[in-house]
Amino acid sequence: MTSADLALSGRIVLPEGISQGTIVVKNGQIQGIVELTAKVDTAVQLDCDRYFILPGVVDSHVHFRDPGSTHKEDFETGTSAAAAGGVTTVMDMPNTEPWVTSAEIFNRKMKLLKGRSNVDFALEAVACPGNISMLSGLNACRAVSFEAFTADVPEALLMNDDFILFEALKTVANLNGIMGFYLESQSFWEHLVPQLKASGRNDAEAFGEAKSPLSEATMMTRVISLNQAAKCNVVLRQVSTQLSADIVSSYKQRGVPIYVEVTPHNLLLTNHDLKRLKCFAKISPPLRSSQDVNGLWAALGRGTVDMISTDHSPHTAEEKARDEIWECPGGFPGVETSLPLMLDQVSRGRLDLPKLALLMSTNPAKIFGLYPRKGVLRPGSQADIAVVDLHREWEIRGSDLHSKCGWTPFEGRKVKGAIKYTVLSGKIIAEDSELTLKKQGLFVIKGGHRES
Ligand SMILES: [Zn+2]
Repeated sequence: MTSADLALSGRIVLPEGISQGTIVVKNGQIQGIVELTAKVDTAVQLDCDRYFILPGVVDSHVHFRDPGSTHKEDFETGTSAAAAGGVTTVMDMPNTEPWVTSAEIFNRKMKLLKGRSNVDFALEAVACPGNISMLSGLNACRAVSFEAFTADVPEALLMNDDFILFEALKTVANLNGIMGFYLESQSFWEHLVPQLKASGRNDAEAFGEAKSPLSEATMMTRVISLNQAAKCNVVLRQVSTQLSADIVSSYKQRGVPIYVEVTPHNLLLTNHDLKRLKCFAKISPPLRSSQDVNGLWAALGRGTVDMISTDHSPHTAEEKARDEIWECPGGFPGVETSLPLMLDQVSRGRLDLPKLALLMSTNPAKIFGLYPRKGVLRPGSQADIAVVDLHREWEIRGSDLHSKCGWTPFEGRKVKGAIKYTVLSGKIIAEDSELTLKKQGLFVIKGGHRES
């Protein structure tokens, strides 16, 4: 093979296992994978024999706060954090300002972000009671999913009515689209918060009690029941408890089209961390018990979990530095630390690299219709690649990360596993988690095609 742009030689993580070889890249695409001994005429050769070569991470759940709350994060800083963390495609959540409820707002947001992104990006839209008739328009704009928020959001955006939920599911099914659900019972929230406040509870654990495992499971069961008739492709966002995992497992065995997302923090932090970090660890759903964490890992092991996405949702340290749990905003950063944290779990023997690539790249690309241009290393795919060093040990520090917020709930955690190179469409955009080439990211539509 001659005149390649880039060649990477080393251990390549493929769906069928790990294989030695050289990935040959031309015009942003993987041209072929050849034997290590094959001579490749290439402009740039990366010798990766000490590393593993993975498909770039596809994070289907980030909140980059742009437009609206750019003092917390903006698209440049959020996608810098992504690139540094081996993430080559992000899907941005629609709760920016204004919330993405119409085609007009979607197009305005897309135009605002084009030309500023360091990784490829797709955009998600809202499904809410007032916009069911507008979902086909949003679909025509190439919204990658329709997100429903079932509790703890402003009333106009609240999806808590069974009839309207069913209408939305049927509408999105007819569009052959994807619906994502944040799962919580509004009824539990409305009753429990005043009770907890009246009894003087301001502590971190009170927040967890208001968003209990039963609250999550109740809403999840309603969505799944409705979807047995609507037959929409549904992503259950941030599934966080053993109870939820057990329930969804039984439905998945019956072939209901539902996909399960879990976050790195729900796999790695517990409600003890919420006690320790207080408002800094406040997020919805909340950090759960160690029994729930073990339940999620068991679900991951038996194949109930389809993907790991981050729910990267930063706020400033000032906004989080409060004592009263009800007063501070929920959410924290995660897009830059997700792959290193999961590599650390590989080092500990909790999962292997092909499974990690499946959960963090291949499955999200498939579920959201970007596969096989994204999510896999094979001829014809876009050359989105994360080269990782499984031997490097380092300590996570918020001040070293690229998110504008400058802090992390994983502060001080020692991990074994780091990102050596991030490659986007054949270009090296980060080396040793420092950006080498900026603003190469393009808007991505169904099929994984890019639009400049
Ligand atoms: Zn979120």
